[in-house]
Amino acid sequence: MSRIVVTGGAGFLPSHTIDLLIQRGDEVVALDNEVTGTWDNLAQHRENGRVTCVTYDVSEPFDVDGRVDAVMHMASPASPADYMRLPIETLKVGSYGTHNALDLAHRKGSRFILASTSEVYGDPFVHPQPESYWGNVNPNGPRSMYDEAKRYAEATTMAYRRTLGIDTRIVRTFNTYGERMRPDDGRVVSNFITQALRHEPLTVYGDGSQTRSFCYVADQAAGYLAVLDSDYGDPVNIGNDAEFTMLELADLVIAMTDSRSPIQHFDLPADDPLQRKPDLIVARTHIGWAPSVTLENGLERTITYFRSLI
Ligand code: UDP
Repeated sequence: MSRIVVTGGAGFLPSHTIDLLIQRGDEVVALDNEVTGTWDNLAQHRENGRVTCVTYDVSEPFDVDGRVDAVMHMASPASPADYMRLPIETLKVGSYGTHNALDLAHRKGSRFILASTSEVYGDPFVHPQPESYWGNVNPNGPRSMYDEAKRYAEATTMAYRRTLGIDTRIVRTFNTYGERMRPDDGRVVSNFITQALRHEPLTVYGDGSQTRSFCYVADQAAGYLAVLDSDYGDPVNIGNDAEFTMLELADLVIAMTDSRSPIQHFDLPADDPLQRKPDLIVARTHIGWAPSVTLENGLERTITYFRSLI
């Protein structure tokens, strides 16, 4: 049994990661200020006594009593709509929050894992994106608060590793979807499903030819555990390498929900990446992990969840 600290534990992806940790017998201390997450995401653990929930902003220094085997630093707004609404908070949790989480790992002698992002590749010139690609990021554009916070967080993690010898891991998460996304989260999968179930127009930004590669959340969470358990210290892409245009996604969601929704086009947001797809060679060969849930299967489960909310 390991005792694991998860920052951002009330969030969408962290809560699924905690489910897997509890399933395998670990104990969790979750910290979250509920700025985008909710403790309701961990309600399933209220009775088992193995998850401690602490309401706290990890951008402020913090300590955790007792043994800590690993620190998973997953706190951050992750939806573009959220991080653009919370730019200062996003920069703080990526910078101060990462220092605070690494300092805890240093004091406790724990392993550390950073939740980074495919956004470090920006609007990529290299496709698909391998971990060796340095990216094409606008340092002060409308997405910079997230992209640069995560790039800074990666640099900080590697500096602590090289200087202090902390046993670190970095996961670059590609677009993830599934149960517990908020209907008002603003990301494309939750927007399209919510709109389709309400028979409202699906809001496609631009001409819809831009691509993303969508990873079901249970796959993504399993990827985190696989990287945590590995001895691989360089960044690892975790995602699904099946690539879709936003128009293809819209058509699929409309068909799967039997929706009468039309498609309505809106302006493409500035700096919106035109294409994104993970190169998964490192994950497959060094981590022994690969995604297993197809977009159709993952959407089916996600649509069932959203039906229960709407
Ligand atoms: N998008 C869209 N309609 C929406 C929300 C998003 O067409 O209602 C597009 C967005 O412009 C981007 C893609 O879907 O090209 C993925 O956006 P999302 O916000 O889910 O994540 P991102 O990959 O941009 O972080």
